[in-house]
Amino acid sequence: METVVSGIRPTGNLHLGNYFGAVRNFLKMQADYNCYFFIADWHSLTTHPKPGDLHNNVRQVLAEYLACGIDPEKATIFIQSDVKEIAEFYLLMNMNAYLGELYRTTSFKDKARQQPENVNAGLLTYPVLMATDIIIHKANKVPVGKDQEQNLEMARKFARRFNNMYGDIFPEPKPFTFDGADLIKVPGLDGSGKMGKSEGNGVFLVDEDKVIRKKVMRAVTDSGPTEENQEKAEAVQNLFTLMKIVSQPDVLAHYETVYNNCSIRYGDMKKQLAEDIIGFVAPVRERILDIYNNEAYLHQVASMGAEKARESASKTLKEVQSLIGFRSF
Ligand code: ATP
Ligand code: MG
Repeated sequence: METVVSGIRPTGNLHLGNYFGAVRNFLKMQADYNCYFFIADWHSLTTHPKPGDLHNNVRQVLAEYLACGIDPEKATIFIQSDVKEIAEFYLLMNMNAYLGELYRTTSFKDKARQQPENVNAGLLTYPVLMATDIIIHKANKVPVGKDQEQNLEMARKFARRFNNMYGDIFPEPKPFTFDGADLIKVPGLDGSGKMGKSEGNGVFLVDEDKVIRKKVMRAVTDSGPTEENQEKAEAVQNLFTLMKIVSQPDVLAHYETVYNNCSIRYGDMKKQLAEDIIGFVAPVRERILDIYNNEAYLHQVASMGAEKARESASKTLKEVQSLIGFRSF
C-alpha cells in the first residue's frame, strides 16, 4: 500500500484554502492509503507564536482535522513535536542541503519579505524539515495545495540526493490530488492570489454565518464588465474560482452567463457565494466546537497517532543511521 504524508501548520484556524487544497484530499485517501496527517507545530515556530498560544493552536487544528472527517482509525493523525525522530533526521538532512538552493526558494524569499525583522534560520531550512517530514515515512504521495509545489520539488531533490549518497531507500514523493486534477490554489477575497492564515484574508471553518456574509460582501471586485465576454480582472476571477469550488455547477454557469452579457450584479453573486460557503462551513463549525471541548478524546487521538508515527519514523531513522555509518558501542 502506498504511503501518504501531509501536514498543516498550527498558525491559525483552517480556512477554505486548507480544506480544498489539502484536507479534502486527505478524506478521499484515508481509506486506500497508509496515511500520515500531522500538525506541524515545529514549522509554526518560524513566526514565533506566543508560548501561551502554541498548545491551543495545536488543539484547534487537531479538532478541525477531526471535524472535517479525518478518521483516526484509518489515518495516523499526529503532532510533529511528539515524534523526536523527525528532529534527529532533520539534523542529518541539513548536512546535505545547500545554502544556495535554500536562498533561492520562493517561499523563503516571500517570508523574508513579509517578516524582515525575523529572517531566522528555520525559515531558510523550512524545505529541509518539510522533506524530512515526508521521507521519514517513505511517502509516495503528498496531497498539498499549489503553493507547496516548489517545496515538494525540493523534497524530491533531497530524497534523490540521499539515495545517491547512501543507497536507494526513499521513493520520490509526488504531489497528489485524489481526482487526478491539478493542484489547486484557493484565492483570497482581498483580490490576492492565495487565501492564507498569515495573509489574514481567510474564510475560516469556524467563522459564524454573519462573519462569512460580511467577508464575502466586502470582497474586492471591479466596476463591472462593459463589453461582452470581457476578460475578468484578478479579483473578479477569484470570486468565480471560489464559486467553482463551493457552488453547484449550474449556479456558476448562471453567473458566467450574466458576466459575459454584462448584466451581472456582483452583489447578487456575492450573496449566493456567501450562502454556498455557509452551507459548507456551518455543519463543520458545529463539529469543531464539540470536538475542541472533548479533551479526553483529543488526548486519546494524539497519543495513538504519536505511537504509530514514532514506530514508522524510528524504523526509517535506524536505517538512515546505519547507512550513514553510525554504529553503537
Ligand atoms: P501560513 O500562512 O501559516 O503558511 P497557510 O494558510 O498557507 O498558512 P499551511 O499550513 O502553510 O497553510 O498549509 C497547509 C496546507 O494547506 C498545505 O497543503 C497548503 O498547500 C494548503 N493550502 C494553504 N493555503 C492554500 C490555498 N490558498 N489554496 C490551496 N491550498 C492551500
Ligand atoms: Mg503556507
